[in-house]
Amino acid sequence: MSLTIAALREAPGENRVALSPEVVRKLVKSEFQVLIEAGAGTRSFYPDAVYEQAGAKISERSAVIKDADVIATIGQPGADVVDQLTAGQTLLGLLRPLTDLDYVKELAAKKVNALAFELLPRTVSRAQTMDVLSSQASVAGYKAALVAADSFARYLPMMITAAGTAKPTKVLVLGTGVAGLQAIGTAKRLGAMVSGYDIRPASRGEVESLGATFLTTSVSATGEGGYARALTPEETAQQQAELADFIAQNDVIITTAQVPGRRPPLLVTQKSVDAAKAGTLFIDLAASELGGNVAGSQPGKTVTTPQQAQIVGAGDMASQLPASASDMFAKNVQAVLNAVVQNGKLVLDVDDEVVGELLATYQGDIISSRVREAMKLPPREPAKPAEAPAESTESKGVD
Ligand code: NAD
Repeated sequence: MSLTIAALREAPGENRVALSPEVVRKLVKSEFQVLIEAGAGTRSFYPDAVYEQAGAKISERSAVIKDADVIATIGQPGADVVDQLTAGQTLLGLLRPLTDLDYVKELAAKKVNALAFELLPRTVSRAQTMDVLSSQASVAGYKAALVAADSFARYLPMMITAAGTAKPTKVLVLGTGVAGLQAIGTAKRLGAMVSGYDIRPASRGEVESLGATFLTTSVSATGEGGYARALTPEETAQQQAELADFIAQNDVIITTAQVPGRRPPLLVTQKSVDAAKAGTLFIDLAASELGGNVAGSQPGKTVTTPQQAQIVGAGDMASQLPASASDMFAKNVQAVLNAVVQNGKLVLDVDDEVVGELLATYQGDIISSRVREAMKLPPREPAKPAEAPAESTESKGVD
């Protein structure tokens, strides 16, 4: 029996779908069976008929859950799905493994295997095609700049007209990782005057190569693997105070700062929000239930302050460009499947440096070192070392 890969209709408010028709076609060609819940692609403008043409079978939800070996999902499936899952089934998606430990424990208790994209070791080069965080951040950054252009009350570019000259809008991007750089590039193409700021000094070159100005504060913090580390309370206060000036000088502030596995850092304090002039637009890509980069931002909502600044809680920007985001997400899913399927069988190698980290749970055990650390579990026993080759007496050096 060939492996059955499935995608479900996501929760309300999520427009993306984890498998695109293009990827379905490739999976079917590679002799997988593909099951798609009826209506799963509707909000990404992929009707059921397009999936059928690509070779998928369309079924109702409980049949899909029951018959799937692997369920690819954008967000964390709810209790209605988890309750139906049985031992040996595999989930692959953004499962919040570091911020919802109870969920991971529940999957482990049910012996459901969980591959969570958040856990991908992103600096391993063969993991790059699987990197959902990058692909979705890129979509989100692009869309954030478009939302800025659409929501701000003025032109972004300089406009010279017979009726006078409009000055270009000043856009500041806080956090210049994947999303921030895409927002900078897009805002530049729209004609804004753009600057970027990041706690990692290494991002200066990337920001400047896009033609934007790089701003710095006296706080810098590069942590593990080249990513930002969380700041101390003193560093946070220092950074917030220095950022306040930059914020006050700009019209649109797009914030994207994240620290892996932690609450997003607060970069724009309530004081800075209150000091913002009327019309200032904050677009907070970090806005989630865990908080955001801007004081008072609310996920999925636009808040207008008493001073007439607007704060867009834009944690769902990738979902607002659903077809492109789904296409890329599905390619990342396909790349993971390529890594874990051998001769038509699912082989989840807990000792593989990529798969072993992606695996939050496997056969009832917690595998990922990051999840184990978050659960305060001891490190996993290392795998038995491969048998050492017999010691050679021959010279190995260069004579
Ligand atoms: P991210 O989503 O975790 O964070 C977004 C940005 O917020 C980062 O640039 C981070 O430095 C910044 N940030 C965090 N705390 C901050 C603070 N207090 N103040 C200001 N900025 C803060 O990061 P990301 O976009 O996923 O990636 C970050 C970097 O890693 C990028 O340079 C990216 O190119 C690189 N990256 C490398 C690989 C790889 O090696 N394969 C893969 C993905 C990303």
